[in-house]
Amino acid sequence: MRAGTDTRDNNCAKSGCGDPRPGAKDRTPVDVRIGTRVGLALRGVRVDAPVRRPDGAGPSDDGHVLVDGAGAALPTNPDSPYTVRDGRVWHGTEDTGLSLQPVHRPAFYDLTTADGVPYEKIARLHGADVLATTVVQTCIRYAESDRCRFCTIEESLRSGATIAAKTPAQLAEVAEAAVRLDGVRQMVLTTGTTTGPDRGARTLARCVRAVLDAVPGLPIQVQCEPPGDLSWITVLHDAGATAIGIHVEALDEEVRRRWTPGKATVPMKHYEAAWDEAVRVFGPNRVSTYLLVGLGEDPEELIAGAGRLIDRGVYPFVVPFRPMRHTLARRDGASAPSPALLEHVTERVAALLRAAGMSGADQEAGCAACGACSVLQTAGG
Ligand code: SF4
Repeated sequence: MRAGTDTRDNNCAKSGCGDPRPGAKDRTPVDVRIGTRVGLALRGVRVDAPVRRPDGAGPSDDGHVLVDGAGAALPTNPDSPYTVRDGRVWHGTEDTGLSLQPVHRPAFYDLTTADGVPYEKIARLHGADVLATTVVQTCIRYAESDRCRFCTIEESLRSGATIAAKTPAQLAEVAEAAVRLDGVRQMVLTTGTTTGPDRGARTLARCVRAVLDAVPGLPIQVQCEPPGDLSWITVLHDAGATAIGIHVEALDEEVRRRWTPGKATVPMKHYEAAWDEAVRVFGPNRVSTYLLVGLGEDPEELIAGAGRLIDRGVYPFVVPFRPMRHTLARRDGASAPSPALLEHVTERVAALLRAAGMSGADQEAGCAACGACSVLQTAGG
């Protein structure tokens, strides 16, 4: 079947959906790309991806590939209807028109610190050029009653895939090697929530300073909960961080209580104050938050809430919820959103971002700049 007449997975071949990217006329039509990218994000692909992220903080657990040259974190699923032949994505017998290459295992994964820790356990490659790590791999909210239902931050620790706490010196050593050997262009430092009022910001700031001493100029995004004392946001900026993610995941209070019971004890007004302070300190479009599609939030309210975030200078990183292994959500039988829902929310939020002149790439560092876990960049956001 010719690309552009796609009817699978609730794709809607809408007219008038112009692709703003240069050279777009030579590519697969944008609505088909979005539909296929949505299908890949939800149903995964039958491919062997050597760069993977098994378990960890947040909502993704995927293989890293390049789809039409852009980083994508996709479930590697032997039952997926999507396959790869000759570097192209096929849906059954149909050529989708998209290319796909697995990201190669980076050279820095073969190195070990002087004290015997494999670099791979300290930080991982995301997409083709993002180095990411969870600086503190434990979280005060990991008791079953408090834990975010989609998160497996401590499972990768239990499996031995990582270490509990990464030192600034270790991160500096790994970052230097990853930039030199593998062309890493930005870094993401996240953390489980710690008990202190800084919520992990103190450690993040130390790590940023150490990495920048080793790799001057490397764009770094830090991610943490709203610190109790907002001056920590300035500390993170002054340490050299380029961008910050303060992730709320859901805007609806009932959804927050159900899906992120521990984090939901932090009132939304604290998130709003932290976002506003972060925009003041880091500037507009250097601040982001995850919004998960598929937690049961009313889609129109989710889109309107994303619009309000954009108005305050915060990039709403819209990501599909997927019931990953080892999560409470999977145990409880939760399912991913429908392709139609993900496509609708993604396209609407991307349109709001374009209207505001905000693009993920402009964040320079972080998940919005990487884009692999979302379909927003495919949709022009
Ligand atoms: S979007 Fe964020 S979590 Fe996802 S692959 Fe990129 S850096 Fe990693």
